[in-house]
Amino acid sequence: FVLAHLAPLREAGGSYGAVGVLQDITELRKLELLRRDFVANVSHELRTPLTSIQGFLEALMDGTIGESQARERYLKVIHQETLRLNRLINELLDLAQIESGKVRWEINPIDVPSLVGRVILKLKPQIERHQITVVPEMPEGLPLMLGNEDRIEQVLTNLLENAVRYSPPGSTVTVRAAGREGKITVEVADRGPGIPPEDLPHIWERFHRVEKSRSRSLGGTGLGLAIVRQIIEAHGGQVDVQSEAGQGSVFSFTLAAAPGES
Ligand code: ADP
Repeated sequence: FVLAHLAPLREAGGSYGAVGVLQDITELRKLELLRRDFVANVSHELRTPLTSIQGFLEALMDGTIGESQARERYLKVIHQETLRLNRLINELLDLAQIESGKVRWEINPIDVPSLVGRVILKLKPQIERHQITVVPEMPEGLPLMLGNEDRIEQVLTNLLENAVRYSPPGSTVTVRAAGREGKITVEVADRGPGIPPEDLPHIWERFHRVEKSRSRSLGGTGLGLAIVRQIIEAHGGQVDVQSEAGQGSVFSFTLAAAPGES
């Protein structure tokens, strides 16, 4: 609380008290702290790849690396870090745009099985590199889903990318869809490391990672799930995660089904 106003109460004989207004700034303060946290996080996330790009470039420029293999390795790191910076900036802009609430998305009926097929095809190089088998399980006669197709594709891409990224080679990732009571749920289930219970409530927050170094080394930005949640909630839908450490994870989202048609 802060004291916003203070007025003495006076009578002819002198003061006999004071009235004050206390303002509850808990919420404001919380927002301010969140904002500061966010700025600190963003700065750190931008600085990390920049520092490594700078370091590797300087090493290349001072001519001490004679070995061409080392040069190639350094260039590869610089390239990867540049890609990550680019991804990070794009995702930050996406988040800012969604959060501003100013974007208007066209809502269309989406055919979930063909969307899932498209996303699997798009991620094929990653899926093969990680030696993952992705199995779509789509029921017959699933109703169409109501949403902005590009944005829902982004949601599914982020969830599937995570499942592939965090799963052990040789394992299976299943993408299921189910329709119930005018709604459609899509879930992505993996056999990866799972998420410890203490991280579960925070998993959708920007830059929250179970293992920062693992996420970074695997190319993660820490923003994927925050974007998923923002998009789904902006559609009036819900996200969910079920997971146990060591048992894999199931990430899902639920949106309205298009009325009447299939
Ligand atoms: P990142 O870019 O780091 O993957 P996300 O927002 O997509 O960021 O995910 C946040 C964190 O949640 C990840 O760093 C990882 O620790 C954890 N996570 C996300 N998906 C999975 C998954 N399928 N299995 C295990 N951990 C996951």
